[in-house]
Amino acid sequence: MRKKIVAGNWKMNTTVAEGVELAKAVAAGSAKVPADVKLIIAPPFTHLVPVAEAIKGTAIGLSAQNCADKEKGAYTGEVAADMLVSAGCQYTILGHSERRQYYGETDAKLVEKVKLAIANGLSPIFCVGENLEEREAGRHFDVVTEQVKNVLYTLSAEDMAKVIIAYEPVWAIGTGKTATAEQAQEIHACIRKVIAEKFGALSEEITILYGGSCKPSNAKELFACPDIDGGLIGGAALKADDFIAIALSY
Ligand code: PEP
Repeated sequence: MRKKIVAGNWKMNTTVAEGVELAKAVAAGSAKVPADVKLIIAPPFTHLVPVAEAIKGTAIGLSAQNCADKEKGAYTGEVAADMLVSAGCQYTILGHSERRQYYGETDAKLVEKVKLAIANGLSPIFCVGENLEEREAGRHFDVVTEQVKNVLYTLSAEDMAKVIIAYEPVWAIGTGKTATAEQAQEIHACIRKVIAEKFGALSEEITILYGGSCKPSNAKELFACPDIDGGLIGGAALKADDFIAIALSY
């Protein structure tokens, strides 16, 4: 049985105090969520320690939104994987399209990040997805396959087992345009097949999340697809009620 996950990417939103309030509201709502649906929240770096405290004693997982591609040292402004662990994280998002697009993250950098995250005990939530131009050119399967192969094929099976994949079509992120359940399912099935080509039956154990304008009104249809194992939620994760409602859509 694959793990079902609903993860909230808060991006660069909320002050520390607002973030702690949001985390407490998610913690309160999490009591309603079935035990087989794992909730994860990914606040900004500055919020991690107090948010870890706010969700203590709950089953909610804590994720960062990024980590450095270096272990430690003179890399001003970066945050290393072991620092995230010491702040209370069990996960980190890596390769989000906003990092690829605005901060020049390449597959080569992501190989380093994914490996360092895993070596330090974090499970990466590794994001892939095509942009609008690539989708319109019919290249979406190729783009996503390449992103998966370039990074995840460098891992051992043991490390691959720790990875969560998030398919996030860039044209659906924060735009209100959601991929249809059919569009999402066919890419998820493709990703699982690409993982199976290298890692065999392990592909059936890998959680693949959908992300891109997922909300309470469309989560049920998406989560009903056989290869969609939950969601990576942006905008709707900033409202505890919506985030919980999405998790209750299973
Ligand atoms: C995201 O950026 O991870 C995301 C899914 O955003 P949104 O839900 O706002 O489209």
